[in-house]
Amino acid sequence: MDNLLFAYPDRSYDMVCSDIRDFKTLNECYGRKSCDRLLHDLAQKLVDAIPDVVSCGRIGGDSFGFLIEHQHTDWTAILDPLVRGMEVAHLFVRFGIVENVDHSLLASLICDRAILAIDELRDSVGAGVLRYDDELHARKTMEGLLVESMQEGIEQHQFLVCFQPKHDVVTGEVAGAEALVRWEHPELGFVRPDAFITLFERNGLISALDRYVCREACRQIARIRDKGLMAVPISINISPLDFDDHELPSHIKAIADEYGVDHELLHVELTETAYAEDPDVVVHALEELRAYGFKVELDDFGSGYSSLALLNRLPLDVLKIDGGMVQDASRLNDYRIVWSAIQIAQLLGLKTVAEGVETSEEVQRLKEMGCDFIQGFYYARPLQRDEFERYLQANRP
Ligand code: C2E
Ligand code: CA
Ligand code: CA
Repeated sequence: MDNLLFAYPDRSYDMVCSDIRDFKTLNECYGRKSCDRLLHDLAQKLVDAIPDVVSCGRIGGDSFGFLIEHQHTDWTAILDPLVRGMEVAHLFVRFGIVENVDHSLLASLICDRAILAIDELRDSVGAGVLRYDDELHARKTMEGLLVESMQEGIEQHQFLVCFQPKHDVVTGEVAGAEALVRWEHPELGFVRPDAFITLFERNGLISALDRYVCREACRQIARIRDKGLMAVPISINISPLDFDDHELPSHIKAIADEYGVDHELLHVELTETAYAEDPDVVVHALEELRAYGFKVELDDFGSGYSSLALLNRLPLDVLKIDGGMVQDASRLNDYRIVWSAIQIAQLLGLKTVAEGVETSEEVQRLKEMGCDFIQGFYYARPLQRDEFERYLQANRP
């Protein structure tokens, strides 16, 4: 393929790559021999279906690459029947396409880009074709930069921890805060957590980051104490992967003790996805954390596949109602679901925090429904350390 790209610099080519989802599992289920036959059949089908192929080959265990004459074609129409046809045989084929390939690049790099597009399809059920375009290229380049500089970022303290106040609905006073991390990246500037948390989860550095934030939160609690400001609990976010470390509770305790922090003042927030991974391990870790005196908050309730059974099984203190649920209620002027979440929490003896609250109307409705605490732009955005301290001072009862 490289020869072709080099020999015909004026021709426009596209690269189409295929990949089979969970091929390893198929190999295990049906055996190598059957799967080799499947691959052979697939290759034949692809050769028949893909138009104007100038060169093709196997580019990985279960991936094929096709260099073809550039064309304006509806790829979904051509490839979807293949995707679906194969699906019947428990084979789910996905395609990544790079149009008008850059002749200065090696064919292997062009294929890598097509495969990156396929990786983007990972979680979308049913979709089978994606183009590698400028937007995806920009995102992948940024992700690459972030991944490369993570370790250094932690070592050089490039992460800034902000604190978003939580207010008591009845008194209106500050009653706590959530520690939220941001990255002050030397090249990319201010980066929001949604852009890097999943990357940290993918390469395992999330535990180091969460421990860093835990330390910053404890340092902040100690500063508030030393300055004689109002003591309020601060919560930290715990990624599902943090539970892989069975020493998690004792690590958190050690950090809190290092700063002489009263354990009641440190809360941990976890999402229900943590429980799905390994229920027993998570329940055990939460029990241990609570035995040390830390409070446990279930985050983002109502955002995913929240299970009511889960509420009974997890040792919890606080239920955080997801901002999306509050926003839906507000938009539809129908708070019945939010109301029932608060009712359930009350039945189970849990406190409630409503997140993402932006208007006085929302505050009023939540107050009427007996929600305990409110966190959201209505009161304050996440604040930097000094701002947060001034906020505590200004909102002193
Ligand atoms: P989260 O835990 O659900 O945090 C709340 C997010 O909602 C924050 O976004 C906050 O700024 C935003 N928010 C708060 N009030 C409002 C509001 O009234 N309206 C709207 N539209 N948004 C509001 P942020 O800081 O960008 O954090 C995003 C997510 O990143 C967090 O969602 C959390 O899942 C994750 N994250 C942040 N810090 C950490 C951390 O230290 N460790 C881990 N593992 N995850 C973190
Ligand atoms: Ca949270
Ligand atoms: Ca949340």
